[in-house]
Amino acid sequence: MLRSITQYRPVTAKKLTELRYWDNLSVDYRKTFLVASEVLPFRVNEYVLENFIDWSAPEDDPMFRLLFPQEGMLTRSQFARIEAAQNATSTDLREAVRVTREELNPHPAGQMTDNIPTLGEDILDGIQHKYAETALFFPSAGQTCHAYCSFCFRWPQFVGEPAWKIQAREAAQAVSYLRCHQEITDILITGGDPLIMNSKNLRRYVEPFLAVESLKTIRFGSKAVTYWPHRFLAGEDAADLLSLFEEIVASGKSLAFMAHLTHSRELEPPEVKAAINAIRATGATIRTQAPLLKHVNDDPVVWAKLWTDCSALGIYPYYMFVERDTGPSGYFRVPLWRAHEIYSSAISRVSGLSRTARGPVMSSHPGKVVIDGIVEVHGQRALSLRFLQAREPTFVGRVFLAEFDETASWLDDLRPLGGGEFFFEARGKPTEPAAPQWTAPERIMGGVHA
Ligand code: SF4
Repeated sequence: MLRSITQYRPVTAKKLTELRYWDNLSVDYRKTFLVASEVLPFRVNEYVLENFIDWSAPEDDPMFRLLFPQEGMLTRSQFARIEAAQNATSTDLREAVRVTREELNPHPAGQMTDNIPTLGEDILDGIQHKYAETALFFPSAGQTCHAYCSFCFRWPQFVGEPAWKIQAREAAQAVSYLRCHQEITDILITGGDPLIMNSKNLRRYVEPFLAVESLKTIRFGSKAVTYWPHRFLAGEDAADLLSLFEEIVASGKSLAFMAHLTHSRELEPPEVKAAINAIRATGATIRTQAPLLKHVNDDPVVWAKLWTDCSALGIYPYYMFVERDTGPSGYFRVPLWRAHEIYSSAISRVSGLSRTARGPVMSSHPGKVVIDGIVEVHGQRALSLRFLQAREPTFVGRVFLAEFDETASWLDDLRPLGGGEFFFEARGKPTEPAAPQWTAPERIMGGVHA
């Protein structure tokens, strides 16, 4: 029988060892947890512990793997380094943790270099501008979450390294930037999870954007719907939040709630459904996106159920991402050909309304690249890829081919079919107008891996 939990109580690594859940974990797992959680951020809450994990066999549970560090998230040598340092001084341990985190590629895809905008002489804090129409805004009070996902590519935001944090103390600079860049129609308020803030704080960040006429859509990136649905249901602060949503819609801007939904199980609790209804009643739209993760959701049946259940609840399936090359990504990695196979199988099981989901998509340095299929060109297998979004706008829609590689799990692992370099790797060369850069394959294999 589930305990009803209506008050938010975070659970840290230290706190977990004092709770009854700890007793359900094997001795081997406890050792893994105590070592890996030194490096990887860990935070859950009583609601997710109670509602999403099967405590009769937790270590086989996909939601457990989504929330708890696992063996294989650190390499053997990293694990041994931390284990040894735990028996040394606190300075040694801190240094071992720092070195290990550096090895985990904390800022992939040029996040700390190529995406940070300037205004005059100023480098702007807490804003990223990668694609012409969309800017990301990171309010400093929103750089944590109701629980942490073990895969999260935003993990450097959570580990207390000030130099790694992307954050803005207020919205004024971002507003000035938007006024100078009227091509930006969408702002994504993200984190962490911006809905970790109370509504008064959130309002302080959001209201200035309502006065920017060129801005058409305000997006929130959040997992609060499933990690803490009572954020939308209980008390004065929830009512304030929903009023803020209504005010955004009443201002004439579109409010797009970008929900992180990783597994179909997340939609089961009745309070999650109630939270979704409450958000939609404000006039906001909800879209869902998540990465494909080995050990968690690498099963087309799970995705098909997630997308079908989303559509039934009025949520638009949006993206199936490829897990980014950061943090413990080696544990979650799915080869690109297999990712395409899972996507194709999942999308073939859902009705047309759920086929709004695009994937598998790599959010890479040059842009969002979707794997469209596995094709055969003059007897050679290849991956057919296409830019959905790009740092360089003329790349959008361009199709390109890469040699089939059974082990490739990211764009950087691929080589162009026929040799040379990909067109987007060419530095200092003028870009050509958008045009398919390929010849029709002799036979489309339609996602079937032979
Ligand atoms: S809720 Fe979102 S930002 Fe927070 S850890 Fe999960 S994926 Fe990352």
